[in-house]
Amino acid sequence: MPIRVLPESVASAIAAGEVVERPASVVKELVENALDAGAQRIEIRLRSAGEDLIEVGDDGAGIAADELALATSRYATSKLQTIEDLYALRSLGFRGEALASIAAVSRLEIVSRPEGAAAGARLTVEGGTLSAPTAVGAPHGTLVRVRDLFYNTPARRKFLKSESAERRRIHDMIGRYAFAYPGVSFHLTQDDRLVLQSSGDGDRRQALAASLGLNTAREMLLLPEPAADVEVRVEGLIGPPSVHRANRRELTFFVNGHLIQDAGLAAAVVQAYHGLLMVGRYPMVFLWIEVAPDEVDVNVHPGKAEVRFRRPDLVYGRVQRSLRTTLLNQAGAPEMDLPRAWSSAGPDMRTPFAPRASDDEMETAASVHLTLSMFPPPARPSGALPLLRAVGQVGSSYLVAEGPDGLYLIDQHAAHERVLFEAMMRAQAEHHLEVQTLLDPQPVELQPEEIGRLEELLPTLESLGVAVEPFGGATVRVRSLPALASHLRPSDVLRTVLGQAEDDETPLAAEVEARLAARVCKRAAVKAGQILSLAEQDRLVRDLEACRSPRTCPHGRPTMIHISVDALERQFGRRG
Ligand code: ADP
Ligand code: MG
Repeated sequence: MPIRVLPESVASAIAAGEVVERPASVVKELVENALDAGAQRIEIRLRSAGEDLIEVGDDGAGIAADELALATSRYATSKLQTIEDLYALRSLGFRGEALASIAAVSRLEIVSRPEGAAAGARLTVEGGTLSAPTAVGAPHGTLVRVRDLFYNTPARRKFLKSESAERRRIHDMIGRYAFAYPGVSFHLTQDDRLVLQSSGDGDRRQALAASLGLNTAREMLLLPEPAADVEVRVEGLIGPPSVHRANRRELTFFVNGHLIQDAGLAAAVVQAYHGLLMVGRYPMVFLWIEVAPDEVDVNVHPGKAEVRFRRPDLVYGRVQRSLRTTLLNQAGAPEMDLPRAWSSAGPDMRTPFAPRASDDEMETAASVHLTLSMFPPPARPSGALPLLRAVGQVGSSYLVAEGPDGLYLIDQHAAHERVLFEAMMRAQAEHHLEVQTLLDPQPVELQPEEIGRLEELLPTLESLGVAVEPFGGATVRVRSLPALASHLRPSDVLRTVLGQAEDDETPLAAEVEARLAARVCKRAAVKAGQILSLAEQDRLVRDLEACRSPRTCPHGRPTMIHISVDALERQFGRRG
């Protein structure tokens, strides 16, 4: 083929690919424009996960009618003029490419009305052709409507992920922006359903609750407010060790307002949690990091998804220290909330273990020691437990256990949930999950929304030992269950895993497997009100000791209350 200069439409569609990779990247660019325009309220509406329609409306500064056409042309920006400006940047945009790129691969419509303008103006761009702006009635601010994304680049359209994956990705992303910009009220509507909204009241924890649910958001640890004059400001909320994910992509970093990924930051976070999490699990972390504009180059990636720090070690070090300090200041097992005479100190893990003989136990003790030795002396892992001895049961629901450092009250149901959950996740990860094939699979009829969810979750369920096969229409049959749930009714297990997410469950993709496992385990665990023999009690306590995170159930509720010997002595007036 002879060499030819590409027609403008082809060249811009190719260039657009760098910025606009998928519906989520369009949403990101439009939300950033709204933030740059000083919006207090941003409304995002999607149809078919953004493939048919993406609409972002804001109440920001707006675009003057005579600048609308310019806004959609390449390298047109109001945010920067000289290359020096790049190193004093206060805005999220600066490349002047987003609207042009979106216009190149969709049918674009912009309606905008700046503060003080008598009317709004409307502009459409389709296949590189701009309409003349027309006057329309409109509220202050800007509405950008993107229809039929990639209609003219079918190859790109073919590469799009499933709608549900893209929906989750966008939901996830807006949840992160809500955290980062708590003063802005975000509203996300997918196919006419409002799926996420934040109040914009300025509180980061409250904003996170919009995507994580109230209970998880409540559990998150708030990093201390940095001093005003520090070189690296680190703010945010981080999960306690009991809340974890399967994937490090779940870590959220905003650097000078930009949502970015950074392997060095991820490593710093993982390092801060060292010894506190199960192997292969990652913490849940939302960080807002600020440095002087000349300390960071944000122009290393067309989608602005990466940055380069001038002094990376300084930033990474600050992040790691801030997180580590916050984590180690957290108490381990929740102490009983009683009058001040009760000790509020956590269990002292350095107390020698009461001698107990079997090899098994020695192994447990050794592994506890191992965990301990990784910590600086004043710190205590919130993980390991000392060896406990079951003493009895109260109200057929709580176990009483004795340890070298006092008394433990254990919620038998929550404890058993934890034990089953860890056993299941470990077996699954090591590919030897025990599965029980059902000899006589009973048909189960599902509701339409359950069928939808089943389709989405099928592979994950398989990997957890729950095999389901179609049986005509809305009816399916459960072919197998994980052995630890084999005493349950298959239909109950299926309904449990297909149920709506509880408030304290996270919708993030990588957690799905753990979430389903946790649900199965909740079903399978001994119930409150079930009488246990002393042998069974002892077994449960022993299994709990072997857990990596014995102090909470998989849903994050405490499994035990600790009352130290010291606290007992005070209560009985033996000590001051
Ligand atoms: P950039 O954000 O890099 O400047 P864009 O292509 O995203 O480039 O936008 C081009 C210009 O259009 C922006 O510089 C801004 O002046 C204007 N603009 C885009 N979106 C909005 C909006 N929601 N509100 C006000 N102005 C906007
Ligand atoms: Mg922009």
